[in-house]
Amino acid sequence: MTNFDYDLFVIGAGSGGVRAARIAATHGARVGIAEEFRYGGTCVIRGCVPKKLFVYASKFTEDFANADGYGWSLNGTPTFDFEKLIENKDKEITRLEGIYRRNLDNTGVELHDSRAVIEGPNTVRLLSTNQVITAERILVAVGATPNVDSGLIGCEHAITSNEAFHLSTFPNRTIVVGGGYIAVEFAGIFNGLGSDTTLIYRGEEILRGFDMDLRIGLHEQMEEKGITVKTKTTLASIVKHDGGLTVTTHDGEVMEADQVLYAIGRRPNTAGLGLEEAGVELDKAGAVAVSPQSQSSVESIYAVGDVTNRANLTPVAIREGHAFADSVYGDKTWHVDHTMIPTAVFSQPEIGTAGLTQEEAEARFDNIDVYSSSFRPMKNTLSGKPGKMLLKMLVDADTDKILGIHIMGPDSGELIQMIGVTLTMGAKKSDYDRTIAVHPTAAEELVTMR
Ligand code: NDP
Repeated sequence: MTNFDYDLFVIGAGSGGVRAARIAATHGARVGIAEEFRYGGTCVIRGCVPKKLFVYASKFTEDFANADGYGWSLNGTPTFDFEKLIENKDKEITRLEGIYRRNLDNTGVELHDSRAVIEGPNTVRLLSTNQVITAERILVAVGATPNVDSGLIGCEHAITSNEAFHLSTFPNRTIVVGGGYIAVEFAGIFNGLGSDTTLIYRGEEILRGFDMDLRIGLHEQMEEKGITVKTKTTLASIVKHDGGLTVTTHDGEVMEADQVLYAIGRRPNTAGLGLEEAGVELDKAGAVAVSPQSQSSVESIYAVGDVTNRANLTPVAIREGHAFADSVYGDKTWHVDHTMIPTAVFSQPEIGTAGLTQEEAEARFDNIDVYSSSFRPMKNTLSGKPGKMLLKMLVDADTDKILGIHIMGPDSGELIQMIGVTLTMGAKKSDYDRTIAVHPTAAEELVTMR
């Protein structure tokens, strides 16, 4: 027993912090946690979860349009109630937040609804009460926040994903700026819900860092679905007027919109947290620099999740929090392997990706074999719906090891999870070849590629 108030004090009750707190508590640690906003963090409150609910909502338009080919006729035009969607989404998020709180409580973690700042290697202050708390170790799990373009004239009229979940009126014309995960996902959402949507990206092709065939394929299919995609374009100004927003690009093009959503990356939430004053080293991006064990430059202070800017994904934060708690409070020392992270983009169509892109594989290996298959998903046959499924496998020709799999089309997010298992196990092409196909599925193409 130490003289500290807690063995562990966690700042931030998002995915990483909650997992670390619960696992540490189940290992017998006395744990406190502070949250300044809502329990569940970005993913649950204003990220992955509400985003996916919005994606589901936005897909009905296509489903209604395609039902006819399957013999259904809808009596009258379906109507969409944006307020109802927001209300129901809010109820679900509140339910989930309750579960997060209860789960912490049930494992004996003490909850503090307050912003906490670090005042020393073993000290935090709760700003709501000014209470000073001591802990043998502190875990920083405060996540990240959306960037805004402060150089843009009228940037105060733009929203980020934070506000997109709480709009009071549905925007009939939406401009989304950015070419990453959030931008392509929200472009799909607004377009699907019926907004006239334009995606503006500064680079040559959207989704930098993804396999080029998927980048080009998604761009084409987004346009097929009615989204205007403008690459090599940046905004100069946004002017607000009674009828909405006038948006001007640096090329002089003028567009009208009801909302401009900026999705240009996120920055670690380290400002004003007392980290540097306590001696914690931050990297150039302002993220907490940590060892593979998530330990910062101050022995007693650890950090997990987006605040460390390693791989900014919920499941990674959860894994980092779990590894930290097991290693420090359990009987097992381990750390997260960040080399194989399957991931999905809930764009429309969806993307799933695991392992190296073709460009990365070509740079690292002498001989790679590229297998790919592109076809119309079966569901689209009777409906006459456009859109193709793309499956791509990259293999090291010298060892037969699969280096990467990239897919685009319906259910890619579901598929890539199991594909990730096989790649984590070190699957070879011959393992896929000897697997019997499941028919008729899109995924069977992966075991019949020759
Ligand atoms: P990303 O880092 O994925 O993409 C940022 C985009 O904004 C890039 O296209 C980038 O262009 C562009 N950009 C950056 N700065 C500017 C600027 N000043 N002006 C114009 N464009 C700019 O960030 P997101 O915001 O999309 O997402 C943040 C993180 O959230 C992601 O890293 C991801 O890990 C996570 N996330 C994961 C999801 C999932 O798993 N499905 C869903 C949503 C988010 P360029 O390519 O030229 O750098």
